[in-house]
Amino acid sequence: MSEERKVLLEVDHLKKYFDTPRGMLHAVDDVTFQIEEGKTLGVVGESGCGKSTLGRTILRLLPSTDGKIIFNGEDITHVDSSRMLALRRDMQIIFQDPFSSLDPKMTVSQIIEEPLKIHKIYKNKAERMERVKELMSIVGLDERYVMTYPHELDGGRRQRIGVARALALNPKFIICDEPVSALDVSIQAQILNLMMDLKDSMGLTYIFITHDLSVVKHISDDILVLYLGKMVEMTDSDTLFDKPLHPYTKALLTAIPVPDASYKGKEAEVMKGEVTSPIEPPPGCRFAARCPLASERCLKESPEFKEVEPNHFVACHLYD
Ligand code: SF4
Repeated sequence: MSEERKVLLEVDHLKKYFDTPRGMLHAVDDVTFQIEEGKTLGVVGESGCGKSTLGRTILRLLPSTDGKIIFNGEDITHVDSSRMLALRRDMQIIFQDPFSSLDPKMTVSQIIEEPLKIHKIYKNKAERMERVKELMSIVGLDERYVMTYPHELDGGRRQRIGVARALALNPKFIICDEPVSALDVSIQAQILNLMMDLKDSMGLTYIFITHDLSVVKHISDDILVLYLGKMVEMTDSDTLFDKPLHPYTKALLTAIPVPDASYKGKEAEVMKGEVTSPIEPPPGCRFAARCPLASERCLKESPEFKEVEPNHFVACHLYD
């Protein structure tokens, strides 16, 4: 019998538009999904597809334009700042570039201690320092770095500080926004392994945002592919790699360098053509300008995002 899991995060028809001098930029356009406790959703797409904006909107670092965000059963879409501060204990973020996301004037201990101070979790400095050292040990950062500054450490160790800081308040949910993109490949694997271990040992739930599908393959239970703010495909990780349906997903998979050639499809095409502007986008499929299979209909009618096989959702007229 399969284990019933609680839904921790529900995103319902979420939109985030930006008013620009050239018109409304549709950064996140009608995104809907759920994540169960203890699961990881990989969110994948090229730069500018709205994935980071989606993460920040879910965490309420940006106000949403429309739709709902339900966390742990509570509609948090419009909760006030004092409620949001309390919710920050459970909802954290790890940023892409550990160097620019860490204050260069703060030591490792000050960076990790800061959220503990803001949330007044421990009675005094001694208790906070004990927790800082515990967190450093959890993320594999030697205690001797406690008084060092971020610029004195390599990229992998700096990202471990980012992970320790995100874990400081014992969160339930972490958005990982390209957390390994700025790191060397060998260090990437170490940080990914650390994150997977922490997920299991601490029962964490992740959204893992990346432009690189190969990075999320092993860490994600499900994968959502975004294109210019729109959901184009979502299914479990194995199915996405074994049987991708959307022409954009197929193109992303062909971009993964060999030897990770898990996708054996023959239809994939390298993407050509101009990327459609997300500012006041034209009607029709947003991928049409680059899609080798586009028809007249694709230019006029936006495809509906729907389930075409059990737990396999896609937005493409080829599957109508
Ligand atoms: Fe290509 Fe048309 Fe499908 Fe869009 S709807 S991905 S243009 S075939």
